[in-house]
Amino acid sequence: MAASNDSDKKRIPALVLSGFLGSGKTTLVQRLLADAADRGIRVALISNELGELGIDRALLGQGGQSYIELEGGCVCCELSDDLLETLVELEREIQPDRFVIETSGVALPYDTQLNFWREPACDFIGDDMAVVVVNADQLAEGRDLEGTFEDQVQSADLLVLNKVDLVPEDEWPSIEARLREIESEAPMVRAVQGDVDLDLLFPPDAGELDRRGEAPAARPHSHEHFETAEWNPEPGMTEEAIEAHLGGAGLLRAKGFVETARGVRLVQVVGRRVEITEPPEPAPEGILGRVVLIRRSEGAHAHD
Ligand SMILES: [Zn+2]
Repeated sequence: MAASNDSDKKRIPALVLSGFLGSGKTTLVQRLLADAADRGIRVALISNELGELGIDRALLGQGGQSYIELEGGCVCCELSDDLLETLVELEREIQPDRFVIETSGVALPYDTQLNFWREPACDFIGDDMAVVVVNADQLAEGRDLEGTFEDQVQSADLLVLNKVDLVPEDEWPSIEARLREIESEAPMVRAVQGDVDLDLLFPPDAGELDRRGEAPAARPHSHEHFETAEWNPEPGMTEEAIEAHLGGAGLLRAKGFVETARGVRLVQVVGRRVEITEPPEPAPEGILGRVVLIRRSEGAHAHD
């Protein structure tokens, strides 16, 4: 019967990518698309980057990707109904594996994310995250750091300090401190040309790590180095104990299904939050009790 359909719907993770013009967020989108094309992941990209269409069209149409541009306003305010409609259409027509929403330079990520909670998007949107790309050079020069910039940075689940190569290395600590004055808690990573470890944006589950067949190890292509590890909590842990374990662990992301004292829960670390929720869908086979953790590698250097 139709009544059971909603709960059977596949949950689709959604990423909101914001940042001023010149922050390099389009480069990051291109990396996401290229990675998805390589791995056969279907991405639906919704772009609201007014007048700055930097997407390489050759990347679209591969791997079942689809692209929609929303024009004539901003997705966090004037176009929020259009955004909702577009999400619903894309879900129905192409059933993507991921949504990526590239906002205009002035959009507020949190206001954009609010649309995921609206009916009927709330029935099919899975994990969501706001990434804000910051131009290190802009910070170093102290340009436009108030108003919208502040609002964007404060609603980030992850800050990507991009274009650090444009700033002398000895100034990195001071520009990071400047960003920390605006937002004290969100995880922050450095990048050159948007070379962020994409697992930070769409974290793999334990099954995906098994399929990749690689030992948890630092990956070489990021400017900063990250490692993926697995935590296997004993069944029956309380939610408080899980939260305490993960909250202080300096994690950039975490995701897994855990048999808690109150039943199976989806456990995630996103930004500064530890989220423990009833799973919207059953745990895929073989991954119950396995939490994937992503953190900085010990002793990693910024340059290699
Ligand atoms: Zn807006």
